[in-house]
Amino acid sequence: MQFNVLEIADRLKIQLVNRAGDEYIFICPFCSGKKEYPKLYINQSKGVFICHHCHLEGSITDLWALRCGVDTKTAYKQMVNSVSVDIQPIEPIPTPIRDTERIHLVYSEFFKMLTLNPAHKQDLERRGLTPDYLSQFKSLPEDAKTRWNICSILNKKYGLDDVPGFQQKISRKNKSYWDCHRSGMLIPVRDVHQQLTGFQVRTNREPKYIWFSYSGQLKSSVHVIPGRGIPWIIEGVLKSYITHHFLQIPCFGIPGTDTWRLIPFHLIRGGKVVVAYDIEQNPYTLKSRDNLVAHLENMGIEPIIAGWNKNLGKGIDDACLTIYKQGIMPRPEMFLPGIAA
Ligand SMILES: [Zn+2]
Repeated sequence: MQFNVLEIADRLKIQLVNRAGDEYIFICPFCSGKKEYPKLYINQSKGVFICHHCHLEGSITDLWALRCGVDTKTAYKQMVNSVSVDIQPIEPIPTPIRDTERIHLVYSEFFKMLTLNPAHKQDLERRGLTPDYLSQFKSLPEDAKTRWNICSILNKKYGLDDVPGFQQKISRKNKSYWDCHRSGMLIPVRDVHQQLTGFQVRTNREPKYIWFSYSGQLKSSVHVIPGRGIPWIIEGVLKSYITHHFLQIPCFGIPGTDTWRLIPFHLIRGGKVVVAYDIEQNPYTLKSRDNLVAHLENMGIEPIIAGWNKNLGKGIDDACLTIYKQGIMPRPEMFLPGIAA
């Protein structure tokens, strides 16, 4: 039996927005809330519907069943018998955003509101970063009022409930407010699309690096700097920034020796990768590196171990800086196996 789309839509309280020949376009009752999505298409002659926003689709009977919360058999009976049904109004649910997008959005906005304090600026300059690189880092505001204001603005705009790193606290006057870590330098951690996935915080005490998110809120993630050429795996997120600054290589900055498991290996092109762990005699570090190397080999990716004279420094970033200070621009080949000319 063919149903009259307009009649059915009217009974289901679905709002018509347009008509194009055999197709009627409605506000989708399933994915619309505060924001309305006029993406529900119902085809009169085919008797089918599809929403091009939430991707629900099916027959007109399915549409009725979904809208009324009944099975299709009941739906069909109600449709043919002109049963009047009690339709719940569209719930004003907030626009669903994928978690990762939401975190990127809130973190980006947060980052924009911060500044880099002089001590952190000096620290980065000491590591060899030039002024054009400094805007990639910010400092957490030590002034409590500044921090609370920033958090409050973000909370009003986005809601901070499920954003790692922000905490709701109760003041002595029993008022709730939002806060985050109170000091340290923020090091953004980005995925391959340069979306923010987290922040590392460089502290002035031990441990030197913590996550902006509180423990248990978010697992650590790998910083990705995309580019052409053989990618490097660098121990340390900040180190990956500095090494990239000197060598202009694509790289993965891993937040700890054993976090290589978080590397999105599928992004590696060309079958080779350079591994640059700190030069250390620490057996734990060596074992982690060996495990990484074995894993790469298993995946058919050729690992190339970067090497340098340990007098240049423990980390690849130190080695680059030392060479640079000697008046030589460091180049990737300087750290790869071969005969140095
Ligand atoms: Zn929809």
